[in-house]
Amino acid sequence: MAPTAVRIREVGPRDGLQNEPEVIATEAKVALIDALARTGLRRLEVTSFVRAEVIPQLADAEQVLERIDVPDGVAVSVLIPNERGLRRALAHRERIDEINVFLSASETHNRRNVNRSIAQSLAELERVLARAREVGWRCEGVISTSFGCPYEGRVPPARVLEIAARLRDAGAQEVGFGDTTGMANPAQVGEFFTTARARLGEELELTAHFHNTRGQGLANVLAALQAGVESFESSFGELGGCPVPPGATGNIATEDLVSMLEEMGIHTGVDLPALLACARHAQELLGRALGSHTLVAGPVQWRQSVPG
Ligand code: ZN
Repeated sequence: MAPTAVRIREVGPRDGLQNEPEVIATEAKVALIDALARTGLRRLEVTSFVRAEVIPQLADAEQVLERIDVPDGVAVSVLIPNERGLRRALAHRERIDEINVFLSASETHNRRNVNRSIAQSLAELERVLARAREVGWRCEGVISTSFGCPYEGRVPPARVLEIAARLRDAGAQEVGFGDTTGMANPAQVGEFFTTARARLGEELELTAHFHNTRGQGLANVLAALQAGVESFESSFGELGGCPVPPGATGNIATEDLVSMLEEMGIHTGVDLPALLACARHAQELLGRALGSHTLVAGPVQWRQSVPG
């Protein structure tokens, strides 16, 4: 049965901006994050502690964290790729509520993405999670290519869930399952999350992270909802994608997600016009049209019913 309310983590400032060809000025990022934090979104992934040589777009992680002004009740999340990133994050620990660590379910994708085997990634991330829990951060582990890999094809669900269980046992309170290159279909998603809940227990928060690469993002959301998923990640303006392989674009757009859910009577807490204003602002900043449908069409307008 579908839930009556869901939690949405906005990942655009990190997952989105890291894939833009240009580097956005720190002040502009801060203004965008501050605006997003006032749309009713309760979870915001703001940056990543990756090396500046790898992702120059996010080289200002420290400055962004120090300058943003986020209201109480909005959780600030950062991506921590490894122990080196952890050391940087620890210097700003009081600015951070949640962290996420990530790896791929496919050996080839993990090697291409972070130049490590899955076993090596897990060993390091287990150390990161242990320290993060000591600090008091809430922890999410994200598993990329959970529904398919461009290099290896099908990824056995048992393998994905084995990795999820390792992350849970290492201290992750939430596991995100990423459809990194948009290969998932709704039948697969429904079956996957039903199995995941049964295998991973009721305590662990299961989060769906879909990409709209083949236009199936919202169909996958519906399937996940029907399997009981209550937590989603999305990106305003449909920003973002995955650098491997090139051209694999687009997280699902937060405004499309919010529009669909609210029309279905599922509460998101998000003020859609305020969110659309953020996406329009990002469009101006980036100098190109963004991919979200609701940005083009506007919110659904129902005619006032005529009395009598
Ligand atoms: Zn993504």
